Amino acid sequence: MPQPPPSAASQRPGRLAQFGATIFGEMSALAGATGSINLGQGFPDTDGPSWILAEASRAILDGRGNQYPPALGIPELRQAIADHQQSYYGLRFDPGSEVLVTVGATEAIAAAILGLTEPGDEVVVFEPYYDSYAACVALAGATRRAVTLRPEAGRWSFDPAELEAAITPRTRVVLLNSPHNPTGTVFSRGELEAIARLARERDLLVVSDEVYEHLVFDGEHIPIASLPGMAERTVTISSAGKTFSVTGWKVGWACARPGLLEKVRSVKQFLTYVGSGPFQHAIAAALRSEPNYYREFAANLQGKRDLLTEGLLKQGFSTLVPQATYFATIDLGPGGRGQEWCRALPHQAGVVAIPARVFYDSDVDRYVRFAFCKQDEVLREALRRLERLG
Ligand code: PMP
Ligand code: GLN
Repeated sequence: MPQPPPSAASQRPGRLAQFGATIFGEMSALAGATGSINLGQGFPDTDGPSWILAEASRAILDGRGNQYPPALGIPELRQAIADHQQSYYGLRFDPGSEVLVTVGATEAIAAAILGLTEPGDEVVVFEPYYDSYAACVALAGATRRAVTLRPEAGRWSFDPAELEAAITPRTRVVLLNSPHNPTGTVFSRGELEAIARLARERDLLVVSDEVYEHLVFDGEHIPIASLPGMAERTVTISSAGKTFSVTGWKVGWACARPGLLEKVRSVKQFLTYVGSGPFQHAIAAALRSEPNYYREFAANLQGKRDLLTEGLLKQGFSTLVPQATYFATIDLGPGGRGQEWCRALPHQAGVVAIPARVFYDSDVDRYVRFAFCKQDEVLREALRRLERLG
């Protein structure tokens, strides 16, 4: 049947026209279509502890959370989040007015950027950056300014002068992510202090994405909200997905002083209103895990990091050993073409990776990201396949 021509209205580009599909879905689909090992999208291939999974099933069957939960999130979870922030970082948040449960960290980031900026404002990000940041800034009608992280002395870091230069009278928010995806860097106290000093001097807000807070192998995770004068200007965001290996549950949260949190909540209520009902109950219980759980989880992941990075180095790839997260990045060199390389890789080797080009505003295409949150045997098989590249 002949189709009528599209209406002029349907042809208008919309705010995210230039973004296209997220790389993660595209590369996971490519892995499926080619039967490749998927070291692209960052999700573990082993689900979280079975007692946490059982808590969620029980919540559903007991009728807890099957109907709309409270707008801020269930009180048990807000209390558990506040207790977690206090016991790990000495940060005090009132569960009644300073903690908001969201649909993953993704929604918290979107609501924070939409709630804290106005069209024409500027948001500073550190590139390479997690892909939703650029889309959220564009949705808000704001402009992003990227400060580049570069490998230096064994880890990725930024030049404080470049950060200072990126801040203008229109800058409203610094969007920070530590531990950092994709580089695996953990911002040091000195780096955080440099950001905090500028935030205080220029009266900026900080949105701090800390979803990898418990996936740290070397170094220490320091929430920027814990630095002097920062609690009142920071929205701290995290999520259960990585910490408890349940990325599909989408339980996230934002913590901030009441005036700031209210701005985030006012957006969140119209994005989803609420979400993840029964899973909120399970995560309230999960956050009461013994400190040992977090230590053993990180130690297990560190073994996977070592397995992958040692294998890559042995094969002659250039890679820095990441301090944290799920990810290791290889450097194809100054003329490297990561996007092309990643599109060919499933066909040539049966492995999927992510071209870091999609995380940059600058024209940087030499880096490729591999996820190592997979069973050891899967990582070994991926390495055997990569070896065939020769
Ligand atoms: N921030 C970063 C840096 C991430 O890598 C991810 C992806 N897992 C998210 C936020 C999104 O977290 P969630 O799945 O909880 O929405
Ligand atoms: N955070 C995960 C990654 O960086 C994927 C999240 C997503 O698919 N949006 O790979």
